[in-house]
Amino acid sequence: MSLITKRAGQFAGAVSALALLAACDPQTPAAPADDAGETAAETAQPTAEDARAFVERAGQKLAAVSEEASRVFWINANFITYDSNWLAAKQSERLTKLGVELAQEARRFDGVDGLDADTRRKLMLLKESLTLPAPAGDDEAAAELARITTELQSMYGTGEVDGKSLGELSETMASSRDYDELLATWVGWRDVAKPMKDMYAAMVDIANQGAGDLGYDDTGVLWRSKYDMDPDAFAADVDRLWGEVKPLYESLHCHVRAKLGEQYGTDKVPQDGPIPAHLLGNMWAQQWGEIFDLVAEGDADPGYDLTQLLKDADYDHMKMVETADNFFTSVGFEPLPETFYERSLFLKPEDRDVVCHASAWNLDDQDDIRIKMCIKPTADDFKTIHHEIGHNIYQRAYKIQPPLYRGDPNDGFHEAIGDMIALSITPDYLKQIGLLDQVPSEDKDIGLLMAQALDKVAFLPFGLLVDKWRWQVFSGELTPDDYNQGWWKLREQYQGVTAPVDRAADAFDPGAKYHVPGNTPYMRYFLAHIFQFQFHRAACEMAGWEGPLHRCSIYGNKEVGEKFNAMLEMGASKTWQEALEAFTGQTEADATAIQAYFKPLKDWLDEQNQGRSCGW
Ligand SMILES: [Zn+2]
Repeated sequence: MSLITKRAGQFAGAVSALALLAACDPQTPAAPADDAGETAAETAQPTAEDARAFVERAGQKLAAVSEEASRVFWINANFITYDSNWLAAKQSERLTKLGVELAQEARRFDGVDGLDADTRRKLMLLKESLTLPAPAGDDEAAAELARITTELQSMYGTGEVDGKSLGELSETMASSRDYDELLATWVGWRDVAKPMKDMYAAMVDIANQGAGDLGYDDTGVLWRSKYDMDPDAFAADVDRLWGEVKPLYESLHCHVRAKLGEQYGTDKVPQDGPIPAHLLGNMWAQQWGEIFDLVAEGDADPGYDLTQLLKDADYDHMKMVETADNFFTSVGFEPLPETFYERSLFLKPEDRDVVCHASAWNLDDQDDIRIKMCIKPTADDFKTIHHEIGHNIYQRAYKIQPPLYRGDPNDGFHEAIGDMIALSITPDYLKQIGLLDQVPSEDKDIGLLMAQALDKVAFLPFGLLVDKWRWQVFSGELTPDDYNQGWWKLREQYQGVTAPVDRAADAFDPGAKYHVPGNTPYMRYFLAHIFQFQFHRAACEMAGWEGPLHRCSIYGNKEVGEKFNAMLEMGASKTWQEALEAFTGQTEADATAIQAYFKPLKDWLDEQNQGRSCGW
């Protein structure tokens, strides 16, 4: 099955045949692998032929269980009841067990000579599919790992402050402009994470043993090994990318800090240091779009309001979905199948609980693609629908691959592709589909770019540091006593934000971010933010576009669509570098595209920043 969920302040993971194992992995104890075959295979020296037969079998096994599992998960997300939760937990358990078995069995072929490239790649994908591997053959440790990870998720999921859920607290963080109210909300949510720390430390130890059993130095190395390059080279590469975008981030930071100083006073927001982390409109200061009104006055009016345009043109949920479908047919993709319209969830039902968090699914890994979303006629949802259907188009494109290759070649690709499509929702596109009468003049672009930058540029250092912290934790560079201090060191260094109050010795602030107790790797989101602009630039160059990148839309361009499809169809069958090359001609991630996209904003920011002292 593949299932992709949309980010919405809180990113959720991508799950496809193999990734599904990772997503579900640590919830339940791993049972020992099936004995008969295992024992026989262990005594004999495995051959390349055995390896080929094994990966073939593994693919079939996965395909067999994944369709049933994904239908259960679909029902669970659409009808949340005691029983559907129970059934979903059973499926997760089954998948976990299978994932551990397959990873450990794949390991038996380490060092076997004469493997063809394809078999080697499939073995690697199987071994690296787990996020937190349980130690081999230690049922007790596996059970403990499952208990801890379930408990951590539940602590996060049920966390509340004075009866308010995270959703409500997040709304306060977004809309309040009262320093003390923001502070109390920010501190309150972090109290939820304190009791997680000891459990988290115990979990790290167990997962590291499991990673060791699979042949990795620690769990962080396992995570960094998933990128078709040496794990150290990968770490160096993300640093290089950060270096390329840092000047842009610093310009944005400088301007935002000045505006926050005007709003809250420079005693509260000192103009030569990091920004207090609770003032940026978001619980984790990871995206700053909610403070657009504070930082983008004057020149920064985008010139139109898409939500209003949708309203004026009577767009309902169906019209919004059909418009996005039309976007993809305009570049040459087959229309979405009838079953997409019959089986998707578009509206929040009145009579039952559903997971409203937007997601894209492929139930049978063939054509049964759907989205699940509670659509409202807003600009945000209009973009999200394009993004989600982008996932569906990707899922359908790689259905031609064998099961182990039905996914993206690295975990940043799926999100990047959805987001790249959303970058084509330009004023010009809106005019072509009849939503906008006239494209605003270029002096209005600063507002559009500012809105984009507050989400996409502001996110970059956060996207980078979450896993930098975890890499240090898994390697033992940070011990439990230093977990929190190490977290704030990174947040200050990369984001230029600081804790607004001294943190208690027992604080565990990283646990206040879903992906830490939820054990979802995070570097994928950093990569997705880089790749989407790289894809967008390549697409626009292919289309012969010569204007500014932020005005380019690939709407209607079948030539671009054809080359795009060629990359999508590859799935995970080739390295991500090869997939990237197929579409962009480049074999490396390249942040110069994001620089180019935001160039007009960077120039504008640098003008605003004249006379200010930037940096922290
Ligand atoms: Zn997505």
